[in-house]
Amino acid sequence: MDCSEVKALIPDYAQGRLAPDKAEKLKEHLRQCDTCRTYWEDFQRKVLPFLGARVYPIPAGEKDLMRRQRMGQRKSRKLDKQHWLIRILPNLLTAVSLLLIIIGLVIAQRRLTGR
Ligand SMILES: [Zn+2]
Repeated sequence: MDCSEVKALIPDYAQGRLAPDKAEKLKEHLRQCDTCRTYWEDFQRKVLPFLGARVYPIPAGEKDLMRRQRMGQRKSRKLDKQHWLIRILPNLLTAVSLLLIIIGLVIAQRRLTGR
């Protein structure tokens, strides 16, 4: 599993919708990869509150988890739009912050060069 795959799967992982074996691989990657672990921590901090989702702990056994995943897939049509937003939200936040930084730099430079 590589970093881009991990990032793509994190929204599902956060909502407990990942198959147990995939979730295990993802956790393994998070243990080893600083970049993805930071991404995951950011995701938990910034995105999950919007979701109102309680992620941890997932107390259900694997069987129960899989049953819920199957039910979730049937029920999740309505959630697709929200789901799509969740995927781009971290990138969107980064883009907005970058934009603000650039605007700030331009203003600062104008002041320094005396208009
Ligand atoms: Zn990684």
